[in-house]
Amino acid sequence: MDLRSGHPFWLLKNGILAAFPALAADLTCDVAVIGAGITGALITHALQREGLQIVVLDKRDVAWGSTSASTALLQYEIDTELRDLKQIVGPNHAHRAYALGVDAIAAIGAIAASLGAETGFCPTPSVYVTRRKEDVEGLQEEYAARHAMGLDVAFVTAETLRRDYALQAEAAIVSQVGARLDPYRFTYALFTQAQAQGVRIYDRTEVTGFEQITGGVRLTTGSGHRVTAAKIVFATGYESGAYLRHKVADLHSTYALVSEPVDPGIIERLSYLLWETARPYFYLRTTLDNRIIAGGADEPFRNPTARDRLIGRKTKQLLKQFTAFYPSLPPLDVAYAWAGTFGATQDGLAYIGETGDFPNAYFALGYGGNGVTYSLIAARLIADAIMGRPNPDAAIFRFSR
Ligand SMILES: Cc1cc2nc3c(=O)[nH]c(=O)nc-3n(C[C@H](O)[C@H](O)[C@H](O)COP(=O)(O)OP(=O)(O)OC[C@H]3O[C@@H](n4cnc5c(N)ncnc54)[C@H](O)[C@@H]3O)c2cc1C
Repeated sequence: MDLRSGHPFWLLKNGILAAFPALAADLTCDVAVIGAGITGALITHALQREGLQIVVLDKRDVAWGSTSASTALLQYEIDTELRDLKQIVGPNHAHRAYALGVDAIAAIGAIAASLGAETGFCPTPSVYVTRRKEDVEGLQEEYAARHAMGLDVAFVTAETLRRDYALQAEAAIVSQVGARLDPYRFTYALFTQAQAQGVRIYDRTEVTGFEQITGGVRLTTGSGHRVTAAKIVFATGYESGAYLRHKVADLHSTYALVSEPVDPGIIERLSYLLWETARPYFYLRTTLDNRIIAGGADEPFRNPTARDRLIGRKTKQLLKQFTAFYPSLPPLDVAYAWAGTFGATQDGLAYIGETGDFPNAYFALGYGGNGVTYSLIAARLIADAIMGRPNPDAAIFRFSR
């Protein structure tokens, strides 16, 4: 499946940052990680710290899948509001899922700082806004739910939004915890460091076969080479449905654009992550080179061609939504627009761990608008599972829920 259309911003801005070879021999390792996107990178980082011998395999180039298309708003607030999630999974799991998101942002920040490379990580508050009067009461309830669990949130109304955020809207929850990232540079920096420390990384190497053997799994690649591993991790993103017996997510097409650089004064006024109560939601962030990224306009995914055919129309829709939120700002001058595919689960939570169908295999399916924070949570849970350390949070994301 084509995971995204041809012009995601990070790929164009950064180019190919490092080259990795294709697999040209048979190998043995402790853990084979399939997928070299941001999820595979964070899992590799976590497993390396356990002293395991790791091999990473990707059929594309490193970070060439959804990771290059991601707008990379890092938020603890998932697509399902806390007050709803409490009803669906119970208050304990709901509170814990939100708290894990807060931890994940801090952990990604700490990893970014440790890499000694530019990753575009930047702590940034998040503004969850509504333009609809009828949503204000629900937003107040959501604020109360988050405040009650101790999250650093404020409820702000129209006048403050106009004065301090340049926003034309009814009300919002402002969360101090959030961040933005260049997911492509971050992934490359992780893999470059991992390779320097002995992890074997092969791209343009498709895993085409899986065979259960005594004490592990044997993988076959498209070129006929074999990788024998005690454990394998599927960090295969939105193509993972092919390896699951039961469907856990619906696929959607999503759209994004990046503007030409704008006046730094505007960037300063928009120094937050914006998203809204409407579904599908419009969202926005800025970049370190003074651009504005806007996204949303999701719709059910049919196929990559149908998805990409809509880019022009969806770009116009996003521009219209921008102007509705920011009538006092000049319209955006679009530099690039792109489309991608993402998966959404019923409860908004990721699926992480063993499926029960596939011995010695772990899945890291960070579906939903919070794929990146879920990648970090998956890395921790899977490292614990592989090392045999019980982790009570595993139950929140288990396949059997
Ligand atoms: C437009 C867009 C905007 C988004 N915005 C946000 C956001 O603001 N915040 C957020 O948190 N998340 C966001 N997401 C989601 C986020 O981008 C994803 O959750 C994340 O990139 C997934 O990373 P991944 O490594 O799991 O998947 P990918 O980056 O797709 O990596 C999976 C890799 O597995 C490889 N692979 C698959 N099958 C095989 C095989 N058989 N053999 C070898 N390799 C294989 C693929 O080639 C691919 O490189 C967005 C997604 C899109 C599309």
